[in-house]
Amino acid sequence: MNRIWAGALAAVLMGLGCAVPATAAGDGGSTGGGAASPAGYIQADDGGLVTDATRPYTYERMARELRELEERYPRLVGVNVIGHTVSGVDIPMVTLGTGSKKVLVLGTEHAREYVTTGFIMRTLDTYAYAYARGAKIEGEDVKAVLERVTFYMVPMLNIDGVALVTGRASPTQVRVAKRAVGAGTYADTVDTWKADIRGVDLNRNYPVNWARSRSVPGPDSEGYKGPTAASEPEVKAVVALGRAHDFAFLLALHTRGNVIYWCDSYSGRVPGALALARKVRAVNGFDLVQRDISAGQASRGGAGSANWFRHEFDRPALTIEFTPPSEPYAKAPAHFNRLIWKANRALLLKIAP
Ligand SMILES: [Zn+2]
Repeated sequence: MNRIWAGALAAVLMGLGCAVPATAAGDGGSTGGGAASPAGYIQADDGGLVTDATRPYTYERMARELRELEERYPRLVGVNVIGHTVSGVDIPMVTLGTGSKKVLVLGTEHAREYVTTGFIMRTLDTYAYAYARGAKIEGEDVKAVLERVTFYMVPMLNIDGVALVTGRASPTQVRVAKRAVGAGTYADTVDTWKADIRGVDLNRNYPVNWARSRSVPGPDSEGYKGPTAASEPEVKAVVALGRAHDFAFLLALHTRGNVIYWCDSYSGRVPGALALARKVRAVNGFDLVQRDISAGQASRGGAGSANWFRHEFDRPALTIEFTPPSEPYAKAPAHFNRLIWKANRALLLKIAP
């Protein structure tokens, strides 16, 4: 992908709040339905033939399924490499659709949240299947949407971190992680690892308000913003992708909480952000979270992908936290249909620009 590095970002700290007007409360509720699929197969009303989000995704399975989907739907699905991880692994980005409007979707920025890779893969499979058959999903004309919009989706940004947390890392990768955080911390935290393989939290490493944003002091399984802004190759890849296209908005997919973060005090109220967040809530019923309203919280979480996108492009960026707050990360894929898919299968269709 074309990498265009703009100059230094303007460091203007804005004091704008993100309060949700009282009229925003109340709607929501889940839609769609269907029982859980038998393992390995997709229920007929969903369509889709390739993916199974009820098993944890590995990089290898994701790459294999992306290739298969690209072969099945050559005019609709395209797979590109946008960069590489710390370990040197290619980071795939898949396009879905032929439309001129563009939306960016990021999955698994945090390692333990790999169920979001399943959401992107299942969405890709299901929408492509419906498109090819002229089918609707929850009343949405899939073909019409995908001829209007192209979704640029990174199903698994933190590929190395996923290898760690799912126990599939190579001895070299484990050595790198242990060296970064210490063997004791590694043993204590590998089951809930969020960071990349050298202990940098990718969602705190973006080049926006980085100097002021919170961080633990050094490499750790979570919460370390890195030695410099955009020090990590995964973050560089997303920044270059974002700058190379005219994206209408960004969705950063995370777990947990069943909530939507749509605003931060650094960028203030971005045009269209609240309206987009309300559209998401109308689909899945998640709560809109106000964040960073007081000056004292202004730097909180300030160097994430959504913070960066809002500030750099003055366009909406939502962090959507799937799954209820208490749901164990490792068990989320097994309950994917009930926890995520039932309420969100038409999400991208219903919020498409
Ligand atoms: Zn996260």
